[in-house]
Amino acid sequence: MKEFTADTWPSDQLPNFSFYEMRCKCGCGTCFLDDEFMEMLQEVRNDLGCPLVVTSGYRCKNHPIEKKKVTPGAHSFGQAADIKWPSGGRDRKFLMELVTWAPGIGVSQSFLHIDTIYEGDTHLSRPAFWIYPPSFQSYVPSEDRRE
Ligand SMILES: [Zn+2]
Ligand SMILES: [Zn+2]
Repeated sequence: MKEFTADTWPSDQLPNFSFYEMRCKCGCGTCFLDDEFMEMLQEVRNDLGCPLVVTSGYRCKNHPIEKKKVTPGAHSFGQAADIKWPSGGRDRKFLMELVTWAPGIGVSQSFLHIDTIYEGDTHLSRPAFWIYPPSFQSYVPSEDRRE
């Protein structure tokens, strides 16, 4: 993982993603990401040709969702993103494209979780596919204020 700031964000390599959408939204504002993960995310974005809106990227251990976990989740390794379903609905092409490269896939009513955690990398078991309960929210709009 590498730490990024608004100033060091590589806009030339990641033209369709911003520091603000990828950073932790607990209020700490830190942003640690895996280069390979971000590279793949940008590639998928290029292939799909439609905006990918990240509602949750990196999460530090104090993030409300991570705090509830006994062991760190994929987001705390900088190798995961929750992506809002495109406005056109639960597009099949979108889902298939992501499924082809992400060993971790979680599906919710409002977003799709993808990660590049591989079996043996961490305590997390991969490949894995899961469905979130209807009430699950990974996104709190008030946390997303830009500075
Ligand atoms: Zn945080
Ligand atoms: Zn997620």
